[in-house]
Amino acid sequence: DITLIKNHLSNAYVATITIYDITAKKEMEVAYEGQQAITSALAFGVNSYWIIDWETEEFIDAFTRNDYVEKKINPQVVNKKYTEAMRYTYYALLGKTDDNMAEYEIDNVRSRLSDQGRYIVSEEIYFAPTNMYFQIEYAALNYKDRMAIIMSTRDVTTVRESERALQLELKTALEQAKRANLAKTNFLFNMSHDIRTPMNAILGFNEIATQHIDDKERVLDALEKAKYAGKHMLGVINDILDMSRIDSGKLELDINIIDVKEHIMRFEDMFKFDMEKRGIKFEVIDETKTKYIYGDYLRITQVITNLLGNAMKFTKAGGTVTYHGIEVEVEEEGYVGYNIHIKDTGIGMSEEFQRRVFTAFEREQTSTVSGIQGTGLGLAIVKRLVELMDGKITFTSKVGVGTEFVVSFKAQVVDEANLEMTLAKHESEEDSNFDIKGKRILLVDDNELNREIAYEILSSAGFEVEQADDGNTAIEKIFDADEDYFDLVFMDIQMPSMNGYEAARQIRKLSNRKKAHIPIIAMTANAFEEDREKSFKSGMNEHIAKPVDIEKVIEIVKKVYSTLE
Ligand code: ATP
Ligand code: MG
Repeated sequence: DITLIKNHLSNAYVATITIYDITAKKEMEVAYEGQQAITSALAFGVNSYWIIDWETEEFIDAFTRNDYVEKKINPQVVNKKYTEAMRYTYYALLGKTDDNMAEYEIDNVRSRLSDQGRYIVSEEIYFAPTNMYFQIEYAALNYKDRMAIIMSTRDVTTVRESERALQLELKTALEQAKRANLAKTNFLFNMSHDIRTPMNAILGFNEIATQHIDDKERVLDALEKAKYAGKHMLGVINDILDMSRIDSGKLELDINIIDVKEHIMRFEDMFKFDMEKRGIKFEVIDETKTKYIYGDYLRITQVITNLLGNAMKFTKAGGTVTYHGIEVEVEEEGYVGYNIHIKDTGIGMSEEFQRRVFTAFEREQTSTVSGIQGTGLGLAIVKRLVELMDGKITFTSKVGVGTEFVVSFKAQVVDEANLEMTLAKHESEEDSNFDIKGKRILLVDDNELNREIAYEILSSAGFEVEQADDGNTAIEKIFDADEDYFDLVFMDIQMPSMNGYEAARQIRKLSNRKKAHIPIIAMTANAFEEDREKSFKSGMNEHIAKPVDIEKVIEIVKKVYSTLE
């Protein structure tokens, strides 16, 4: 007759406990009924109510929504005393070992009710296969002319679980926000440092050049150094741009045909001289067979040059750097796999640092300590790029012994028929011998200094250059000129009164067909992918990011003309 006690906490237990005092023969049946009791209890989010005499602790009544409980259990409940029943339930039936029973002791319940009128205890019960949560609520009431306590049980498992899930979600979101914020702060801090350092050098050497303006050698030396610092700064900015592009999913691979052997030869050429200068032995082992594959030439180059650059930087004279490219078979028809091992006998990395090696701005030693230049963005970008190519990058490293990075990726093999077509197209493109000489550019930029620099670069490359200092002037100039007068427009984006996007849109609306179709190339410091897209949307043909590199300009001008023909 302990049966009834279990009933306090859940209908589920009502059933299970009944088994105790029924003959073996009936056990199965009851267990079955018990299961049903559980199911319906859960279905209704069941409550049971027990009414206890305030003074004598006797059960006066018991109600439940469940027939089984009501008919078989309740009659027994009313004959028991509350504390006795609860203790047994708590320790013997529920197997609880904690101190929570104190919460249910009649004295405690009475005193809580005297204070608050209402008292709630939450209980977690392991009920295979999961935990269930119950809320036991006490209230004082007058019942059948007696002072009584009503105790109700409620299954709050689902509520608890969704609350928990919500809490977990909130917690994760909060942690993510915190982490992102920290990362942002660190990022800004590092970025500001890594841009400030070369900036400092540029200004410093500029100052030196000014002070020694008559000493030609010193001026040249200072300018050379300022240029080097400027290039380094541009490298850092480009790295940061790359990271942000990849992270925002804006970087897309530019898949083209790659001549594998030629590609590898380029690496060799690129590093041979520097390695030799540093007294490092540079080995290139090429075990590839396939001649042409599809891939992003630029990005694969970026990955490998970063890894080779690191291997070189962190290896002392007398050491060896090895590039070992292995072609492997893969399951997919028409694809090959590559495992590229880049190994050095350099300084290696500590185990502690190895965990952070792919994190942006992380370096084992600062430049000040090691004298080795860098920002710590290289490997962060490499990892992202490799993943963008659906590849994998792993490494092993040991302090004082060396490091080996392995990049694995798959590439589609170029089939011969396709190849001939593409190569033919390529040749015809290169044949279209485009002549810069005499091409007249309208250079639109509000910043005089920028115009001056661009003017110098473009005119010394052979272009005729005219200038306009904002969008309105540009449109007027084109409007007033003969339709053949300008060949190209180079358009800055951020300008007062009318920006470059708007100016381009206006030009495209001119009634003269020829003028309306003049090639417009954005030449701007807005270097994000969104900016490129905006340029194209406003009708421009191309987008060049400042600082302007003349070779790039010529390449793009050629590209624009080749698409016009
Ligand atoms: P960046 O590549 O941005 O110019 P970096 O070379 O310092 O700067 P990562 O390429 O990201 O940055 O490398 C991060 C750090 O990992 C390095 O500073 C260095 O401590 C360690 N590291 C990377 N490659 C090697 C290597 N081959 N041997 C030893 N340490 C390495
Ligand atoms: Mg690096």
